[in-house]
Amino acid sequence: MLRILILYFFLSPLFIISQINSLDVTNYHFSIRVNDNHDTIDMVEKISFNWNNPETTPYLNLKSINKEGKGMRVKQVYSEKENIAFHHKNDTNSLNHLTIEYSGVPIDGLVIGKNKYGNRTFFGDNWPNRAQNWLACHDHPSDKATVSFSVQAPSHYKVIANGIFQSELDISPQEKVWNYFSDIELPTKVIVLGIADFETTWPEKNTISSWVYPENKQAGFYDFDLAPSILHFFEDYIAPYEFSTLANVQSTTRFGGMENAGCIFYDENSIDGTRSCEALLAHEIAHQWFGNSATEIDWPHLWLSEGFATYFTLIYQEKVKGKEFLQEELKQDRNQIISFCKKYPNPVIDSTQKDLMKLLNANSYQKGSWILHMLRKKVGDEVFQKIIRTYYSTYRLSYASSADFEQIAEKISGIELTQFFNQWLRTPGIPKLSIREYIQEKTFKASITQMQNKAIFNLSLKIQINFKDGSSTLETIQLNDRLTQFEKKYSKKISSFVLDPNVELLFE
Ligand SMILES: [Zn+2]
Repeated sequence: MLRILILYFFLSPLFIISQINSLDVTNYHFSIRVNDNHDTIDMVEKISFNWNNPETTPYLNLKSINKEGKGMRVKQVYSEKENIAFHHKNDTNSLNHLTIEYSGVPIDGLVIGKNKYGNRTFFGDNWPNRAQNWLACHDHPSDKATVSFSVQAPSHYKVIANGIFQSELDISPQEKVWNYFSDIELPTKVIVLGIADFETTWPEKNTISSWVYPENKQAGFYDFDLAPSILHFFEDYIAPYEFSTLANVQSTTRFGGMENAGCIFYDENSIDGTRSCEALLAHEIAHQWFGNSATEIDWPHLWLSEGFATYFTLIYQEKVKGKEFLQEELKQDRNQIISFCKKYPNPVIDSTQKDLMKLLNANSYQKGSWILHMLRKKVGDEVFQKIIRTYYSTYRLSYASSADFEQIAEKISGIELTQFFNQWLRTPGIPKLSIREYIQEKTFKASITQMQNKAIFNLSLKIQINFKDGSSTLETIQLNDRLTQFEKKYSKKISSFVLDPNVELLFE
């Protein structure tokens, strides 16, 4: 997703981690009923799961009623019509059954309110683990399941959800039921549902649809018309699109955009009729491969989702707007990383940060993206693309850790990359270089010191030497120590030099 604001948020993730290897939900079927008179939702959920830890009892995450009276109350839990005992306390729900009935006003997760035109809307917004506010689920990215929705809502609405649209049935003069089914397993963070008065169109028949507020019909259809070319660009570069359809949806998500699987939600203000949201679309569409299909196994590996989406947006923009555009964007991102690293002491793989919202930072996004850029410069365009394709084909519809990606990168490139990944992913901060240069006629000398307090990095620094006759040459200096000296005499007189002329190194 792309941030528009950062909120402090904490939902005890330790509870979840304790059962991630034992509980495997295979399917959720959610029947949900909403109405226009109040914000209470009624849920009937059928869940199928495997549990391979007989010593203990599995539980689902579901937010209980809070002091304001919001939250979910479980009414009954049963297996094949036989009522069984259950416990629902401390936001967990121990279980050994198939059907759960519950209702309440969601504290969060399903945002029921008014859009910017004052019209009533219902938008799921689950990232990172807010699904448990309205869905009884195993709320962790490492447990994917197929999912279907039956949504009963007033007839004037249109309903969008993950997966394939199955049917829309009139059940009374006032209400309809919409059915959607995703046969692809999804992590809860990107399971979604949207209910609003939408106008819809299909920029690509049967595959890509646009869902916008009636007030923004013209502008929204025009902006979202970019989706097919972006999607096909990524298909060519990475692999075929995994999901059956792609809906681009105007919504009230708290993020700039949220990459819900096959059903992307964009902030309602991102539509302006000028296609200024092109990079946002590219970012969220790239997530369909990285994050939604090949999913990070746990939160510390978030860069596999956000860093990839950020860099693939740049790769798309490089194709559309050229190399100079890419370099300007990388420079801006580098500046953001420099100022972020001064304030934040943790590395990209950040297992100490328990406030998941705070992982939406320049480490996960811009630095993750820069690491992919440096890898590409190290191995070359062709090998880089092969690494990406192999990583994706290996971990598509599954889970990966940073080490899984590193292993693929080493295997495909044939280069030992332990130091490269350790210094960029597991070491906080970035290298800070102090350079003292000396130019005399045809001689160029430089003393380069790594000034950062912590570890010494292994770096390739490129320097462009410009000559007085207008020509230039490119030198690569290997920096493996605290201090590196460089001296070279040329046949022509030197006029000036440029550090890292092609924007290939992350340093201050
Ligand atoms: Zn993102």
